[in-house]
Amino acid sequence: MSSSDALARATNDKPVPVWQNILVILGTPIAAAIAVPLYAYYTGFGAFEWACFAFFMLATGLSITAGYHRLWSHRAYEAHWLMRLFFAIFGACAIQNSILNWSADHRRHHRHVDDNDKDPYSIKRGFWHAHIGWILFNEKGAQDFSNVKDLQRDPIVMWQHRYNLTLTLTTNIALPLLLGLLSGKLWGVFILATLLRVVLNHHFTFFINSLAHIWGRRPYSEDNSARDNDFLALLTYGEGYHNYHHRFQYDYRNGIRWWQFDPTKWLIRSASWVGLTSKLRTVSAFQIEKARAALQYHRTMASLAPHSRCEELRAKLELQYREYQQALNDWTTAKQEWVTAKRGQINDKLERLDQRMRYLEYTYRLKLQRKRWRLLNAQLAS
Ligand SMILES: [Zn+2]
Ligand SMILES: [Zn+2]
Repeated sequence: MSSSDALARATNDKPVPVWQNILVILGTPIAAAIAVPLYAYYTGFGAFEWACFAFFMLATGLSITAGYHRLWSHRAYEAHWLMRLFFAIFGACAIQNSILNWSADHRRHHRHVDDNDKDPYSIKRGFWHAHIGWILFNEKGAQDFSNVKDLQRDPIVMWQHRYNLTLTLTTNIALPLLLGLLSGKLWGVFILATLLRVVLNHHFTFFINSLAHIWGRRPYSEDNSARDNDFLALLTYGEGYHNYHHRFQYDYRNGIRWWQFDPTKWLIRSASWVGLTSKLRTVSAFQIEKARAALQYHRTMASLAPHSRCEELRAKLELQYREYQQALNDWTTAKQEWVTAKRGQINDKLERLDQRMRYLEYTYRLKLQRKRWRLLNAQLAS
């Protein structure tokens, strides 16, 4: 868990227990299970202790999701050094290893997802391996940083990597104890803001490697085990839309619909309004809908395949699929032309109005085709 775990790594292929990880991962839930109810019963937690807990939960959780994950592992946007410094400090506080180690493992996970040899937390090796087993036992020897050379150029990343243990101890012990001393709630703050928070933050994050590869729906890709799961999104600041994320990993959003719970996306976007983040990368609505429709097409076709008398239905589906794709293409072209016109690159007022009308018309046509497409798939699937 700390950068010093590199010392504990073996150079052979046999799993080697990483004792400091075992101590933290197994020790903190036991300590929390004893300390939280005992302290609650004999002393009781007040508003200050809960406020510290909430702050540490948010700070560590978002440093992992917005910092470690979307910023450093995927380069989905760029962030001001103040923001990167905050993520580096509270990421170390999350006790999930340094940015460099975390991102190297995570990039390997995306590249070789579900490959038992190359994906460090492959779900094909079972829930417990993907959840914590890969952390408790080291099988790969020394960490390979060849896929994070870009991050090695970030001085904040390298500073955090070098002082990870110091930062982890300072933020988990010294800082809560200082807050506890100042408020006169020494143990109360430590038990909630460090002990309980570490356990919850750990397992909520680990759920993405385990549960989000088992439980949920796959609207965008069936090429790997990743799933979209609204419940997990609630626990992980929006990381539960993991099927979308594996399909379009460079998008700074994981929940792309306005109603999907993705506070990490909200933080990144709102920070861009005050210049703390920039170059937010997104996948176009066209690409997203194309992936979705292609998967739906193959799924419905497969469900019709065993029935020899379904030739007519297959032809109907094929035709509707082509019409829907055409509507998507036309809509994308009309949208691009309208955006160009709106930016003022087309000066003629009448022409601009014409582009707008065309865009609206194709939006209407697309909606109609989408409705027909979904209806037909639902009919054929039932
Ligand atoms: Zn990822
Ligand atoms: Zn994954």
